[in-house]
Amino acid sequence: MEFFSRRARTIAPYTAGEQPKSGIFVKLNTNENPYPPSPRVAEAVAAFPCERLRLYPNPDGDSLRDAVAAFEGVERENVYLSNGSDEALALAFAAFFDDVRAACFADVTYSFYEVFAAMFGVTTRIVPLKEDFTLDIAGMRAADCAGYFIANPNAPTGIATAAEEMEKWIASMPERLFVIDEAYADFSGETCVPLTEKYGNLLVVKTFSKSHSLAGIRCGYAVGAPALIGGLMRMKNSFNSYPVDALCMAVCAASLSDRAYHEETVKRVAEERERLKKGLCGLGLTVLPSRSNFLFAGRGKVPAGEIYARLKAEGVLVRHWNKPRIADFCRITVGTPEQDDILLEKLKIILS
Ligand code: PMP
Repeated sequence: MEFFSRRARTIAPYTAGEQPKSGIFVKLNTNENPYPPSPRVAEAVAAFPCERLRLYPNPDGDSLRDAVAAFEGVERENVYLSNGSDEALALAFAAFFDDVRAACFADVTYSFYEVFAAMFGVTTRIVPLKEDFTLDIAGMRAADCAGYFIANPNAPTGIATAAEEMEKWIASMPERLFVIDEAYADFSGETCVPLTEKYGNLLVVKTFSKSHSLAGIRCGYAVGAPALIGGLMRMKNSFNSYPVDALCMAVCAASLSDRAYHEETVKRVAEERERLKKGLCGLGLTVLPSRSNFLFAGRGKVPAGEIYARLKAEGVLVRHWNKPRIADFCRITVGTPEQDDILLEKLKIILS
């Protein structure tokens, strides 16, 4: 396009999973939670004073920062709020990396990282995962970089690196920044958030989209030392001063207040993940050891691209990437037992 900047002309934007317009699909393609948000969310929406919308929200979202701080066991100054965790991740690229300060990440990981790097002119060092899709920590240590973006559990594999192993690495390289993307960590039972108190080179990014069933509200947060939070604030205030709106703050605070519901939902999804995994393995598929709310399954009798297409024709959406190393897998979000039974039934026919 004649009006495009060089950046707009050359960037390859991130492709999100399909959001079909009709509701007839069994939708297991974008790692949404199959269960509704806490009932307290509906109460908060009903009680929200619309008159409040006349005014701008608090620019840093302080009321929700306090709620997140209480939930995570940290202080307000350790919390940064964003419009989806994508925004915190994007601004972390802008705040801490550039053409000299290279960012290192795996070849198979959240594909938005390379887009953010391109957007902000950040040099990248890509270190391939090992054959079994686990992190090549030795390779990443050896990379010439200023820090790392690590999705833990990783996407789209679902594989997690133990917090203990992460801590050894973080402690041994205090001059490098670790941005740990914990979008799916609630489903793994492990988090690096407590390590942020000890290590000034660690930023943990989380989201309301998955375990809180709030993908539609677009809210995420980063936890880290005040200096790192300050870096993100500098970028926010150079980009969009009010990324989190007043209704969003009320909704997310209501969800955080219902810890019992959150824990119960996470447990249901994690248990169903193991049941679905057994079902997929029973159909002869290889399923990677996931600690998230999705399974990466493939290498069966039928190529994964064909499985994806035939499932879609049958009304079941999963995700498939025609990319090196992962083209023979589909990523399947854990649904309700009823949704997963439909998937397994269709798969049985496709694979027979
Ligand atoms: N990190 C990872 C690894 C993800 O898969 C996603 C979801 N696409 C995100 C971050 C961003 O989620 P959100 O912007 O909805 O918080």
